[in-house]
Amino acid sequence: MRSSIAKRYGTILAFATALVGGVVLLVNLYFLERYSEESVVAGKQHITRLIETEKIRDSELMASTIASNLDVPVYHLDFSAIQEILEPLNLEEHISYTYVHDLEGHIIHDGTPEIQTYNQPVASLLPYSLESFSDSTSRQSELRLHVAAPVVVGTTTLAVLRVGVDFEDVNKEVGLLNQQFEKEASELRSSILLYTFIAITLLLAMTTLIVFLFSRNLFLPIQTLVDRCYQYAEGNTTVQFKLARKDEFGVLGNALQKMKESVTASQKQIEELAYLDPLTLLPNRRMFNEELETMIDWAAAHDHKVALLFIDLDHFKQVNDFAGHDVGDQLLRDVAERLSSLLKEVTQLIDLPIPEKLLLSRLGGDEFVMIVPCFHEPECLSVIASHIEQVLGEAFVIKEERHHISASVGITHYPEKADNITELVKQADIAMYAAKHSGRNRHRFYEPDMNSEVLEKIQITSGIRDALDSNDDQLFLTYQPIVNLENSEIVGAEALLRWNHPKKGMIPQDYFIPLIEKSQLLASMTLWVLEKACTDLASNIYPIDKGFKLSVNISGAVLKNKGLCKQITELLRHHDIPNHCLHIEITETSMMENIDSCYDTLCEWKETGVDIWIDDFGTGYSSLGYLHKLPIDGLKIDRSFVTDRSNKHQVIETIISLARSLQLETISEGIETKEQQDYLTQMGSDFGQGYLFSKPKALDEFLKLLPEN
Ligand code: C2E
Ligand code: MG
Ligand code: MG
Repeated sequence: MRSSIAKRYGTILAFATALVGGVVLLVNLYFLERYSEESVVAGKQHITRLIETEKIRDSELMASTIASNLDVPVYHLDFSAIQEILEPLNLEEHISYTYVHDLEGHIIHDGTPEIQTYNQPVASLLPYSLESFSDSTSRQSELRLHVAAPVVVGTTTLAVLRVGVDFEDVNKEVGLLNQQFEKEASELRSSILLYTFIAITLLLAMTTLIVFLFSRNLFLPIQTLVDRCYQYAEGNTTVQFKLARKDEFGVLGNALQKMKESVTASQKQIEELAYLDPLTLLPNRRMFNEELETMIDWAAAHDHKVALLFIDLDHFKQVNDFAGHDVGDQLLRDVAERLSSLLKEVTQLIDLPIPEKLLLSRLGGDEFVMIVPCFHEPECLSVIASHIEQVLGEAFVIKEERHHISASVGITHYPEKADNITELVKQADIAMYAAKHSGRNRHRFYEPDMNSEVLEKIQITSGIRDALDSNDDQLFLTYQPIVNLENSEIVGAEALLRWNHPKKGMIPQDYFIPLIEKSQLLASMTLWVLEKACTDLASNIYPIDKGFKLSVNISGAVLKNKGLCKQITELLRHHDIPNHCLHIEITETSMMENIDSCYDTLCEWKETGVDIWIDDFGTGYSSLGYLHKLPIDGLKIDRSFVTDRSNKHQVIETIISLARSLQLETISEGIETKEQQDYLTQMGSDFGQGYLFSKPKALDEFLKLLPEN
């Protein structure tokens, strides 16, 4: 349990104040006590001095008065008169003696009728020695005051009167007064001490209370903020840090509030990133898995069916590569929007366990996956997939440019095909893969035998990767001669790739090359072919025939690879072969598919001096406008027109005259008979290639066809 700092520090401060106050009180009382004691002593001394002084003054006054009365009796030595004056004095209890003596110190009278001390030296009766004086004076012994006053006639001192005054009474009086004073002083001191104690204690209590309250007030907002911080840390996100104060605590509260808002926003963003695809804001793979699980549980509980549609965009990569990632991103967002709208229609009247928008997810790249709940027959899914193909088939207008893509959709469903999410996702993925390899822009339902079909394709791709990496002769080139149609002389050859798989044997090129063209391995394969062709040309063919032209097939999709042109010119320079000895063949279809990127690259290639032919011409849909602009050197008439001329000779004639008007060479493929050769020669085709002259041959065999061998 957390202890309150306001309470804790409030108590500590109050206690410290009380302690300091207590010490101050004790010190105060100690000095007060000492001061009062000293005051009493001083007071007593003062009283004693005051009374004694008064007594002395009275005694001296009395002595000088009596001495002045004695002048005449002494002058006349009238003893009875002197006695008369001294007798009442002697009767006073506190008068211990009265002597009148002459200036030599002999007693004249002692106040008694007998005057027994007459003529005795007064010094012998007194406790001190005599001195001459002219004024009243006194001396004090322990218990007595000895007063002396001159008896003067005119200006002449006749005698001295000495009176002994007992001080016992005075001392008693002083003692009584001192006692009384001490008592009163003591009472006063006690009261002062008491009142001081009470006053200081009250003051102390008040100060302690004020300190306690003040410190509590000081620490309370901090305590409040600390408590709220703990609440927030324990997951209470509704807690507010703002304090209704304008002081530093208010500022601190506002700062914490801002911090909390920023932390909350970051947390939300992190959660979104963890579950949402940041580009389309659709659920990502993680969230998709959770939602699919929910949907399967729901379907199981309600005896429903749930389908999974795996959607992969066709040609998206081209859009991304050629139009830029901005456009690619926007296209993905537009795809998400179109699919979401479609999904809304599909799920319109269904009471779902999750919001309908969570049924569409983006798994990454151009892969989307749609969960379709409650369908009745698989045909319904076919209709939905067709709708998907339709909505995604419509042009996307981004930055005023129209972009065309299509979609390949793989379909599977619960519970007939699979009863768990891992299997469902795998099946939908395989079905999509099959749809893609069946020609794209279509959908396929998952079938168990697709597994082996897809697996085999995956094996082929990874096998080619191994073959490209290894230096064995799994991959090799065959060469098919290209001849001058008029005299059948070999002017060049076409390099054609072959793959001899270590286990499966020869793999048909019509099978593996299209697979590679759809994979990431295309660039590596193209480079491998070019390197091999250049090496063979430089080492074996060029030394024999300096005018020989070697044709290499390049897929249009690889032309976007900007570095390739530089690589090939370096390769030719490395092998010391003139650039014009190399032809590249790009199929009409792949060129038209990549026409925008092809144009610039072909111009670049052309500048290096390499010749460019359009392969399989006539099978694609070349526009005359493009043909006119493209930096090409020749058209290879597709084999299909040559082989079966029954109703296609018009096409051949058109292609040849088109080429002539564009000042392009023509090369006829697939010539198998002399008749075909003659016809094509007659039509004006420049070069020919076909089994009539030679099938594609391994290098050694091919070299035997060359004139010098
Ligand atoms: P292509 O470029 O049109 O190559 C000509 C094809 O016609 C070759 O097939 C060749 O064997 C075949 N051919 C030639 N004369 C005749 C004939 O008289 N009768 C018949 N029936 N066929 C004939 P191949 O070697 O099977 O190559 C098929 C396609 O594979 C090539 O068509 C080309 O598009 C592609 N290809 C081959 N090697 C490569 C390569 O290294 N790179 C790329 N991208 N594609 C290649
Ligand atoms: Mg070719
Ligand atoms: Mg061809």
